[in-house]
Amino acid sequence: MFLSVVSRPVYSHTISMSRLFAGTPFDIPPTCDRCEKLESECQCEPIEPAKEYADPSKQSARVRVDQRKHKRKVTVVAGLSPEKSDLADLLSKLKSACGAGGTIVEDQLELQGDHLQRVKDEMLKIGYRVR
Ligand SMILES: [Zn+2]
Repeated sequence: MFLSVVSRPVYSHTISMSRLFAGTPFDIPPTCDRCEKLESECQCEPIEPAKEYADPSKQSARVRVDQRKHKRKVTVVAGLSPEKSDLADLLSKLKSACGAGGTIVEDQLELQGDHLQRVKDEMLKIGYRVR
């Protein structure tokens, strides 16, 4: 039977696994890609895993215009999670779409001036749900 053959040890005890790979790339002990030291000697900082942002279509933002001191208006984008959205990236897109300055304040995006419709349009274009 085929199965019974596979279940038996394929290599007899006269050939160890390390000998099997001798002279092949598999024989090289693992080294760090960055410092090229052996992994056991590597002192590199662990690489931070890339953040996994959620699909914009699964998030809904609230966009409103606030009036600040001296009748200064700001367009505020609220309701997005900084864990799920790349707020800095979104801010830079909105800034260029509106031609306005902006900043992130307590997980909300603030753009200078009244850009309610343009912000909504741009966010819808990216894929966000907007209220
Ligand atoms: Zn290293």
